Amino acid sequence: MESNSVHHHLPSAIKLLPSLLQKPLIFPFNFKAQKQPRLALLANCSNNGYSNNVRLASPSSTTTSESPEIDWDNLGFSIVPTDYMYSMKCAQGENFTNGQLQCFGNIELSPSAGILNYGQGLFEGLKAYRKHDGKILLFRPEENALRLRMGAERMCMPAPSVEQFVEAVKQTVLANKNWIPPPGKGSLYIRPLLLGSGAVLGLAPAPEYTFLVYVSPVGNYFKEGLAPINLIVETDVHRATPGGTGGVKTIGNYAAVLKAQKAAKSNGYSDVLYLDSIHKKYLEEVSSCNIFIIKGNVISTPEIAGTILPGITRKSIIDVACNQGFQVEERLVTVDELLDADEVFCTGTAVVVSPVGSVTYLGKRVTFGKEGVGRVSRQLHSALTSLQMGLTEDKMGWVVELE
Ligand SMILES: *Cc1c(COP(=O)(O)O)cnc(C)c1O
Repeated sequence: MESNSVHHHLPSAIKLLPSLLQKPLIFPFNFKAQKQPRLALLANCSNNGYSNNVRLASPSSTTTSESPEIDWDNLGFSIVPTDYMYSMKCAQGENFTNGQLQCFGNIELSPSAGILNYGQGLFEGLKAYRKHDGKILLFRPEENALRLRMGAERMCMPAPSVEQFVEAVKQTVLANKNWIPPPGKGSLYIRPLLLGSGAVLGLAPAPEYTFLVYVSPVGNYFKEGLAPINLIVETDVHRATPGGTGGVKTIGNYAAVLKAQKAAKSNGYSDVLYLDSIHKKYLEEVSSCNIFIIKGNVISTPEIAGTILPGITRKSIIDVACNQGFQVEERLVTVDELLDADEVFCTGTAVVVSPVGSVTYLGKRVTFGKEGVGRVSRQLHSALTSLQMGLTEDKMGWVVELE
């Protein structure tokens, strides 16, 4: 295979889990395996052999000693190795072709891969829910595909077409359907990745790209669940600057906020709220979710102008709130307005709608919603999640049914 040839010439390559977490490996994958017939591969991918009592051919030597059953009631937001992932490659200047499912496991990269040296990479995030009737639901997957394409343009990467993206997501979810939590217990988090996998030395776009999709069952993102989260407004560290990459889901935006997030967590906060880097008074967003404030019948959220990630949950909540008769404004929102709000909530695929119980700014703590979760936040959370879980009629055409 032309696109793999670089690997054969390298003295050593680096093997990484797609999640970059060094869990014990069940099925270390390397590109040579692609030469085997696809079915042979697919028949052997069961990870830990423990989903929904389906005990597929169990891996002979390297099984982990993890619990033989998933504890669906205590899912958090951490990586659980599942059975399959999807992979598709493309050379710079060409189109993605020949995507296929393969065993979830390590990928092999040159030490000089574009992603490792220059951060040429993007990720996406969406969820699949299981309905009581067994149907599997995706929420607006084409929006993720379009956002990946926008980000790819900014990062000088080729991207899969919307159809290829959605097809890859569907195949990955169906291949791992035993890992989708039962209704009400959580969801299957889907993580597409687009990375510069080809070798470069001087700063330049990589000569080869890999699109991967892997999945992991998840419960609540914040350990608080629907209980209110506590945010601290960060005044020194900025997540994004005008002209930068804050508006795309590029991997480099995230390691850069770990320091502020880690400090916040060690002081008991759930996450960090960033301000604009120029005036240091307008709200931007939280590390991985967007923010809304409610005052009376008006719901306001910072407008998308390059430094804020255009969340699909954000966009959906704006429509849901408008349909419910709220006045929704996308504009500059000051930190003073935030402190004076009736309710505050965050939105994102991972957090869905997360009510904010307190905001701390320059040492001053302001609380919202005297009795826990605010009325409007609860109402919007319920409207959106019932749609995503297929419990209410989807008048917007947002839900994609599998099977
Ligand atoms: C992914 C992300 C969001 C939320 O986007 P959704 O499409 O709603 O999941 C918000 N902010 C940042 C920084 C993100 O990375």
